[in-house]
Amino acid sequence: MTKIAILSQDASLYSTRRLKEAGEERGHEIKVVDYLRCYMNITSHRPMVVYQGKQLDDFDAIIPRIGASQTFYGTAVVRQFEMMGVFSVNESVAISRSRDKLRCLQLLAGEGIGLPVTGFANSTKDIDGLIEIVGGAPLVIKLLEGTQGIGVVLAETHQAAKSVIEAFRGLNANILVQEFIKEAGGADVRCFVVNDKVVASMKRQGAEGEFRSNLHRGGTAEKIKLTPEERTTAVRAAKTMGLKVAGVDLLRSNHGPVVMEVNSSPGLEGIENATNLDVAGKIIEFIEKSAAKGKIRDRSRCRA
Ligand code: ADP
Repeated sequence: MTKIAILSQDASLYSTRRLKEAGEERGHEIKVVDYLRCYMNITSHRPMVVYQGKQLDDFDAIIPRIGASQTFYGTAVVRQFEMMGVFSVNESVAISRSRDKLRCLQLLAGEGIGLPVTGFANSTKDIDGLIEIVGGAPLVIKLLEGTQGIGVVLAETHQAAKSVIEAFRGLNANILVQEFIKEAGGADVRCFVVNDKVVASMKRQGAEGEFRSNLHRGGTAEKIKLTPEERTTAVRAAKTMGLKVAGVDLLRSNHGPVVMEVNSSPGLEGIENATNLDVAGKIIEFIEKSAAKGKIRDRSRCRA
């Protein structure tokens, strides 16, 4: 039996509920901890985390479910647990790394993983050159801070692209400019990776007339079988980010699978409903395997 904390802001969220259920089914003790309500003495010789007035000092493992807008405090709490020698399914450094879209793409490119041609610039004086880098319009412009498809714009013409880039930069927003993968047909592929294996995958199709496939934007999902190349791309992308639990989003392009994004707290609802697989159980199994390998309950180790 392992004592596991799920770091989540809301115990009623589908993913949180399913992880708790899957852990309890397998005989573990599971507690949901709101990481925003954790506080800590970071200078103590015995690092500790306090929650609801009590020290959290007897967990063996944590499952971080850090919201995109809470990365700073969330990763600080995860790091504090790591300092206490508690096993985290995703390490704090890997979560921070994956939250920076630009850094993420640079690291993936460094490993030779397929990506849409992507450009980045600071000054609006360089817009024409930037558009040229990605092969001209149509192209996709993305707010670096965007999630759930908000701030992802398809510009059909050079002039439209220029205006949108100028408008975003005028608001001091950082943006990526990306080749438009038209042949993806408004669909993307979510690969759910646990411990260097794809445990479930689904295809998400955007609503009629929508190039963005996000389920939050009215997309629909269905189970699909991956090609071996898609499978290895997803696993390599997760490994490059150092994530043991990851949602890797791919587009099917004419030049093979290209990675959109690697998510460190992938949702379970869409993927479990589309595939009928027990993905939460796979995450718990990963903790069990890590415990069997002696990776858990080594509280003397200190990882900064
Ligand atoms: P977010 O992180 O906000 O979901 P994404 O970068 O994943 O933003 O983009 C949202 C969706 O838009 C993707 O799932 C995909 O369907 C579509 N999309 C994004 N970039 C491209 C692109 N370069 N070519 C074609 N479709 C794209």
